[in-house]
Formats: sequence, C-alpha cells, structure tokens
Amino acid sequence: MPKAFTIDLGATSAKCAFFDNDKVIKTFVYDTTEKKDLLDNISKETFRVADENGINMQELDFVGIAVCGIVDNETGTVLYSTNLGWKNYPTRTELERLFNNKNIVVLNDAKAATYGEWSVSLNREPDSMALFTIGTGVGGGAIFNRKLVFGDNTGLPSEPGHGGGFQTEYQCDCGLIGCLEPVSSATGIERKLRAVGANSVGPLGQIYAVKKNDLHIIDVAELFIQGDEEVVNVFRENLEPLAKCISVLIHFFDLSMVVIGGGPSNLGIPFLNIIKEILKKYVLVEFYEKIKLSSSELGNLVGAWGVYQYGVDNIINKK
Ligand SMILES: [Zn+2]
Repeated sequence: MPKAFTIDLGATSAKCAFFDNDKVIKTFVYDTTEKKDLLDNISKETFRVADENGINMQELDFVGIAVCGIVDNETGTVLYSTNLGWKNYPTRTELERLFNNKNIVVLNDAKAATYGEWSVSLNREPDSMALFTIGTGVGGGAIFNRKLVFGDNTGLPSEPGHGGGFQTEYQCDCGLIGCLEPVSSATGIERKLRAVGANSVGPLGQIYAVKKNDLHIIDVAELFIQGDEEVVNVFRENLEPLAKCISVLIHFFDLSMVVIGGGPSNLGIPFLNIIKEILKKYVLVEFYEKIKLSSSELGNLVGAWGVYQYGVDNIINKK
C-alpha cells in the first residue's frame, strides 16, 4: 500500500500530488515564479496541506520530484536548470532534509512524463515508445525494451526538439540550423498562425484582428476542428519537421507507439490525423501500417504520476 508525495517542478508552477495505494488523494499547485528558497517553501506548503487533509507525512514511503533540468541520476543532484536558476543543486539531499524521508526520487521532467504515460496510461503495453511534448519547446523521452531510456554518454535529458536539420525556415535559439522546435512547438505554430492571420480575409483574419499577438492555439481550436483550410494548413506545414523526426525514429527503432502530449494534442484525433497524414510521405509502408499514434492522457498530472510510479517500481518493489 504505497503512500507518496510527488512534485512536478516547472518554471512557473509546481504540480503536487499525494498518492495512497495508486490513487491520487489530494493535489495542489504551487506558484514557482519566486525562485528563492523554492523547495523550502514548497515543503512548508506541503506540510500545511497534509495537515489540513489529515495526511500523515511520517507515513510516506517516498517523496519524488520531476525537475525541468539536467539530473545526475546517481546522486540526485540537478546539474543545471536554466528555468529554475539551479546549478549543481543537491536536490535529493535537500528533499531528505525537508521531508525527513530517506527515500527520494529525482527525475528529469520529460523522463517522468514518459514513464507516466507508459506505465500508467498505457499500462506498460508497448515494449517501446517515444513521447513528444509540444509546448513552448518540444520535449520528450523514450521507453525501449520496457525500460526508461536515460542515455549513458552525456547525462543530458532527451532533446528531441533539437538537431537533425528538419527545416530551413528558422534558426533555432540553441544555435543549430534546422531544429524542429522553432517550427513544430506550440510557440512556432502560434507564430505562423499570427503571420497568416495578419494577411487573412477569412475567419482566421477575424480572430487575428481581435487577438493580434495574443492569438493562441486555443483561440482557433474551433476553426481547427471545423477544418478551416487556413488554420489546418498552418498545422500541416508546421508539424512537418516533427513528422520527419518521428519517421527517422520509426525506421531506426521500429517503435510500437508514438505519443504526442502538450497543449496542441488536446485538439485530439484531427490533430493526430495531420501527423499521420504527413508520416505517410516519410515512412515505409510496412512500418506505417503498424505504428500507433496516440495523444497523452494524464494531462497536468503526467509528471507527478511518472515520478510516483517510478518510485513504486524502484523503491517499494525493490525492497
Ligand atoms: Zn535547436
């Protein structure tokens, strides 16, 4: 009957969840805009919420955290996080002290999300899968032969948004040429929607006239579902670099499944269908017929679930 508390720590918010026997019993969101004494403040809030809800912190089997940064998996130190302003931050040691718990899990957030999707929403069905999260950037991770892929050379988290030269339109902020991120991320899709909207005499133009540079994917969701040609074409063009990258992975690893997460994946089946349609151009028919494409199902709590399940598998079940 595992009991645990997990934090999915992002640049603007931390999604926190208490688990009891594979169920989420209480969640809260902590604003992380103020970075000073961040873990101390989150732990204080956690003890307060636990107290208020009759949760005994001393009974927790483990405490886990997913961090937007590079994690040394041996020591649980966060080597680098631009978003949090952390450098060589001894996260495991800090959590041990703050939560008075010897069992601490520290994972990179994209790896936590990958593990959450695979072990919880997909019930460990595919032996191999890749997850792409489309947001401000493009993140992701992979399961290979039923194991979370950590990589063993640089220690860097997966960086599926970079490298590969999949487009010629934009220079990436990372300094490389042709990364898929500046085009296929939500940021990239929205930039194109605004550019097309500014010259549009159709419904997209009407929305742009009101929203201007505040136009987001959510504002055109209805037009997208209705199949508005201008809106759908932006997605078709901008998802092309992502699809090219997916096609390389499929041909190399013969993956069973590719999961797409992040805001735009909430557009559902029509969104996945666009990626599928592009893949048809770039994937050999034998692979194409077998590949499963799905959207992420755990939403906001995917990271929290991933850390929880990773802790259950690697702390509880290994005792
Ligand atoms: Zn890049």
